[in-house]
Amino acid sequence: MSIDTFTITDNHRLNLPSIDMPPRILLGAGPSNSAPRVLAAMLAPTVGHLDPTFLQVMGEVSELLRYAWQTDNEYTIAISGTGSSGMEAAFANVVEPGDRVLVGVNGYFGRRMVDMAGRYGADVRCLETTWGAAFSPEELRAGMEAHRPRVLALVHAETSTGVRQPLEGLAELCREHDCLLLVDTVTSLGGVPLYADAWGLDVAYSGSQKCLSSPSGLAPITFGPRALDKIRNRKTPIANWYMNSELLGKYWFGSPRAYHHTAPMHLFYALREGLRLAAEEGLAARWARHQAVAERLWAGLGELGLEPHVPLEIRLPSLTTVRVPAGVDAAAVSRRLLTEYNIEIAGGLGDLAGKVWRVGLMGYNARPESVAVLLRALADVL
Ligand SMILES: *Cc1c(COP(=O)(O)O)cnc(C)c1O
Repeated sequence: MSIDTFTITDNHRLNLPSIDMPPRILLGAGPSNSAPRVLAAMLAPTVGHLDPTFLQVMGEVSELLRYAWQTDNEYTIAISGTGSSGMEAAFANVVEPGDRVLVGVNGYFGRRMVDMAGRYGADVRCLETTWGAAFSPEELRAGMEAHRPRVLALVHAETSTGVRQPLEGLAELCREHDCLLLVDTVTSLGGVPLYADAWGLDVAYSGSQKCLSSPSGLAPITFGPRALDKIRNRKTPIANWYMNSELLGKYWFGSPRAYHHTAPMHLFYALREGLRLAAEEGLAARWARHQAVAERLWAGLGELGLEPHVPLEIRLPSLTTVRVPAGVDAAAVSRRLLTEYNIEIAGGLGDLAGKVWRVGLMGYNARPESVAVLLRALADVL
């Protein structure tokens, strides 16, 4: 058949200028701005996904993630995908059809966990509290006793509400019940105190674009020994090929290392640099910086007559929900911040839609100048 049997049309043949994106200051619920050093690292040459130099980068990313999480878990990797792929990997691997999973739902991401666990056949039970509250140890204990789950799933940093869920002491409760503790640390890793081993987290996952100052596209995940035991003793195959921890393990830790998928190496260069920044700064200084910058925001909001939604004891530094004053059109304010000041903040989700703004001070953006420009712009707009 000759090529001129068919006619090429130019219907979709756009003639575009080169890309020109605005220099937004990303103070919403994520992504945050990548650190300049992170963006620069992405320009390193492309190598193959099994190139010895890339395998070394993978190893360095694993090791720096262990530092960020404060874990010795060998199985600590980054999944190719955004934070939600970390959530998906967590449930896909540890949940078997019929397993009872108790999810703490006090925001949007808890609801997403319910959805995902259900898709893997879990018998999902919900422990609910209001959006803006955390679960007390007593509520969690009562939930564990009432439901007797195999997995307890909680969101450490609920980005939809700005609540920090205390996790200390839950490991003992979970071990008493032979239950895994699975935790979403997307908006806490690298910004909020977090001790995966000391707190006995069995599975934790995160995302590259929140407090790690990197572009979105990678989801760090760590499996502890109890989680790996449960995976090893599964009676049914893991119902997800891409996020199968055994197959991924052959790529990350096998000998020889085996092709699984073509890792997005430039995103790994970026995450490596984001984690290197965290290691250089040190976690203590980094957590203190996030806290100090958030306190600056809270003080400035007070001067504008604005009020955080979450009580101080459980308020996240990385994400603040701010109550929208009566008579103010929340979406109009966000729109003006974006178009007139190049500042992105986020609106409320779910139960808090229209009621709060969400201000993220994450990673590279957790700096006094972010707070200063936002407060100045908010004062003008309001
Ligand atoms: C952002 C976020 C996610 C999802 O991450 P994506 O990168 O948007 O897929 C999951 N959980 C929490 C708590 C988050 O803040």
